[in-house]
Amino acid sequence: MPATTSGSLPPPATLTDAQLRGAACVWGGGRLDTSTAVDLGVQPDPQFPGVRWYPRACPACAAGRS
Ligand SMILES: [Zn+2]
Repeated sequence: MPATTSGSLPPPATLTDAQLRGAACVWGGGRLDTSTAVDLGVQPDPQFPGVRWYPRACPACAAGRS
């Protein structure tokens, strides 16, 4: 089953730019390897209508949340 509901993601206002771009794990904040990163799908930003962000996670965090 693919990923996670958006309700399980942290609020984008609390994340770093790297996390918003999918360059760092959305939960752990660690740098991601493109070959292993788990794509969590394009998410709307609740604070800014029309803005989207691109969370990704490391496999360890994604496994713990699914
Ligand atoms: Zn992680």
